[in-house]
Amino acid sequence: MELSRRRFALLSSAAVATLAAPAVIRVASAATWSGPRPKNVILMISDGAGYHTWNAASYFEFGKLGEQVYDRFPVKTLMTTYPLNTSSKPTNDPTPRVSYDPMAAWSLAPGQGDLGGEITKKKYPNYFAGYEYVKKNYTDSAAAGTALAAGIKTYNNSINFDNNGKPVKMVAEFAKAAGKSTGVVSSVQISHATPAAFAAHNISRNNYAEIGREMIEEGLCDVIMGAGHPMFDDDGMYRAPAGDKAFQYVGGPDTYFKAVTDRTTYQWIETKAQFERLAKGELELKKPKVLGVAQVHTTLQFNRSGQGMGKLVPNVPDLATMSLAALQVLAKNERGFFLMIEGGAVDWAAHANDTARLVEEQIDFNRAVRAVVGWIERNGGFAQNLLIVTTDHGNGMLYGPESDRFAFQPIVNKGKGQLPEVTWHYDTHTNELVPVWAAGPGAEQLVQLSTREDPHTALAGWGEQRRYHDITDIGRLLIAAVSTEQRASAN
Ligand SMILES: [Zn+2]
Repeated sequence: MELSRRRFALLSSAAVATLAAPAVIRVASAATWSGPRPKNVILMISDGAGYHTWNAASYFEFGKLGEQVYDRFPVKTLMTTYPLNTSSKPTNDPTPRVSYDPMAAWSLAPGQGDLGGEITKKKYPNYFAGYEYVKKNYTDSAAAGTALAAGIKTYNNSINFDNNGKPVKMVAEFAKAAGKSTGVVSSVQISHATPAAFAAHNISRNNYAEIGREMIEEGLCDVIMGAGHPMFDDDGMYRAPAGDKAFQYVGGPDTYFKAVTDRTTYQWIETKAQFERLAKGELELKKPKVLGVAQVHTTLQFNRSGQGMGKLVPNVPDLATMSLAALQVLAKNERGFFLMIEGGAVDWAAHANDTARLVEEQIDFNRAVRAVVGWIERNGGFAQNLLIVTTDHGNGMLYGPESDRFAFQPIVNKGKGQLPEVTWHYDTHTNELVPVWAAGPGAEQLVQLSTREDPHTALAGWGEQRRYHDITDIGRLLIAAVSTEQRASAN
């Protein structure tokens, strides 16, 4: 406590200097893009991965930090993720209702009461005012997905709808207009909030059947891959679907039966062998578009029976295999593609405060990043490919074992193959800064966009990275990266 107080005093004076600095926001846009555009653009999202989620997986995988493939990327930034407001529906009010204040987010003053516990039924005392602050005014995955896909802030629950209840154009549509292919891959249901934000529009993320129907029947994306199979349970066991609701993630019964009887624009695949053969380029495709729904209901692995790591569902591919399968299809387009890949169940593990499966899911995501970087190295390298690796918000406030007494104490490394020592301070999303890694044409724009500074990040062992931009900057950068207005129209 003594140490924490002293640190806070030092940091507070630095924060005052920061607050006085003007926040000039430079906006990435198609019109201002300088230099060559990437041929292919890939966004990888570990959903709900706060700073120490990334560290926890690295400690388990390597026994130390700095060994991930994205640790070698030239661009590392932080970003804010908060929505326009925390309403669950449009409010028709353009005034931003929430924000991020570094002073408040890292305050060591005593907090009051407790927050959370709706999911885990635990008590989460607000030990410090900073803990209390970041537990409020957080984004959901839909508003965050819309920020990443369309570059706008909106209400929670929005899938590419603005706060006036109007649909907005997002990166996959800009990519299509530029002649590129597009795809979404997720370790959760294909119509869950994050993949939906890169493939559909809906006033609410909860309208799964409508979203699934739009994705499959309107067919904006050339590749859709994930979970959500109506005929399988969370252990990958075949079962008779109980009513129409079992079909919601694939657009309802009618859309599902069209898809499996070859009456959509997609080739349907679902077995692990099909995903694996496609990933190796050995699956013969009758159609140029692929809809791959793994033989499992909600998640590839997270929601299976049992506790802890291991004993995986055997009949589903991992995220790396799905990612390579998607790349096989998308890379056929000579004009390039946009692809979003989501480690969706990292967020589910954080909601459950399940440290073992959190690490397992984050490692599955890390392996997918390695597979994608390997593909990039074989396909034009980072001269032709822009890759951004990030998350859409924090979740669970993962800190060290004594972080109830020592504010923001980092998690404790127990070595390779061992789970770190942690304390969960929440069971839902947070309004914390989150990390971003990027490489390829345009990546450096994120550094230019990082015009604000949070002097306190080192307090929590976040290293020297202090400057940050907003989540919507990623969306605008992606749209600019896939747009080709300035490309010479000759030939
Ligand atoms: Zn999320």
